[in-house]
Amino acid sequence: MTYDTVIGLEVHIQMNTQTKAFCDDANSFGDEANTHVSAVSFAHPGTLPVANTGHIDRAVKLGLALGCEINKTHFFDRKHYFYPDLPKGYQITQDNQPICIGGSLDIKVGDKTKSVKIHHIHMEEDAGKTVHDVHDTLSLVDLNRAGTPLMELVTEPDLSSGEEVFAFIAELQKLLRYIDVSDADMEKGSMRCDCNVSVKPAGSVELGERCEIKNLNSKRYARESVKYEAKRQIKMIEAGQTFNKQTLHYDPVANVTSVLREKEGVADYRYFPDPDLPPIVMTEDHLAGIQAEMPELPWVIKKRLREEAKLTEDYAEQLTRTPKIYEFYSGLADKSKDAKSSANLMINQILPSLDNDSMDISELKVSLDACTSYLTLISDGKISASIAHQQLWPALLESPKISPMTLAEDLNLLISIDDNALGALVTKIIENNPGQAAQYRKGKKALIGFFIGAAMRESGGNLDPAALKEELTKVLDNG
Ligand code: ADP
Ligand code: MG
Repeated sequence: MTYDTVIGLEVHIQMNTQTKAFCDDANSFGDEANTHVSAVSFAHPGTLPVANTGHIDRAVKLGLALGCEINKTHFFDRKHYFYPDLPKGYQITQDNQPICIGGSLDIKVGDKTKSVKIHHIHMEEDAGKTVHDVHDTLSLVDLNRAGTPLMELVTEPDLSSGEEVFAFIAELQKLLRYIDVSDADMEKGSMRCDCNVSVKPAGSVELGERCEIKNLNSKRYARESVKYEAKRQIKMIEAGQTFNKQTLHYDPVANVTSVLREKEGVADYRYFPDPDLPPIVMTEDHLAGIQAEMPELPWVIKKRLREEAKLTEDYAEQLTRTPKIYEFYSGLADKSKDAKSSANLMINQILPSLDNDSMDISELKVSLDACTSYLTLISDGKISASIAHQQLWPALLESPKISPMTLAEDLNLLISIDDNALGALVTKIIENNPGQAAQYRKGKKALIGFFIGAAMRESGGNLDPAALKEELTKVLDNG
């Protein structure tokens, strides 16, 4: 029997506000333990939470970008559970009236585009951290993270493979960075993902029993854990075993999932509206203001690059990988007034010179101005494109402070041949290849490439290809 895999995601996103969700302690990570902890973070009796507009507006911004319906009147609920890193004994979250409902995000896997529906997005606060590896016999609690603002985005069970899960997370990360709501860095824990996985006989409508893999902190782990989990469930079903909704842990080293606990029912959390926080009512004007400040979204930029600059899908994707990469590219295209050459320089020279994982363009030592001058040398016919890419670019990476012109002069890479010499060279090449010249003159115009190649070889490459072609055509056509 063949099976379909069905996956729904719950993605936790840390928001990049200055302060925490319900008090003005700094929302900051990696600092000394318990340094951003006022009485509110400690949950001292008598303290009261105050909602943070930055938290709410960021959630709205994400919702608008994803085409969600914004719940203009919404409120916070308490979700109760006991854990040492949760001093209040409950988490402030949203249950009944989440801030955003519906919406979708398009993903692409291979040639297939899929619109993944979003169930809702709600706001909540994070818990503190229990640290087990600092003290020999004690576990320690760090409350710096307690009360920091999160969003949880819950998808419909619309995904059907590990690859789609990977693509969805990547696309969401990209969006979050473009709208500047979160750095969405899974390695740093700014984004975590739970994957709900079930399998069902291929084509059947009814969904199977699901298991939930908790707290995945990389796209790759999410992809691999889902693949493993689907296989595990199929094996159980084929062996005639049944299983209940379980919460699972994924071990990336062994690449297996294991049961953490049988899943709690909803009632265990005793949800009810937080009486300390009044309902929030948002006006149309406020929403319009957030919409008006929305930056251009990555898929809109991609479409524009394809249509206006006539770039391929793959090029457009590469050039929009991060907001900074796109910013650099668009600066270069503006200054050089040549979108195509700028795109080629980005894809073939600049991006490969960056550390592939982080793709941080600020690591590039060559300035935007130097990149522009480099392109201008080529477009002005001062250096051939192939010589520039093979020799000038590597030299520029080595000596980013020296101007491309000076470097090209020092390395003797500039096109030195003058008009007379070019004429002499062209005459020589044509004389050396009388057969091809005759064929060209009989109409086999494609042979121009042969002559260009021969002249380039003869001259060692220091030729302006445009001027060479012009001269060759002139002499051949009039000969
Ligand atoms: P809970 O509150 O128990 O986590 P939800 O109904 O909110 O359950 O669903 C959480 C996630 O599980 C959603 O992303 C949803 O798409 C997904 N999901 C629900 N049913 C299934 C299923 N049968 N198989 C896979 N994913 C599912
Ligand atoms: Mg859940």
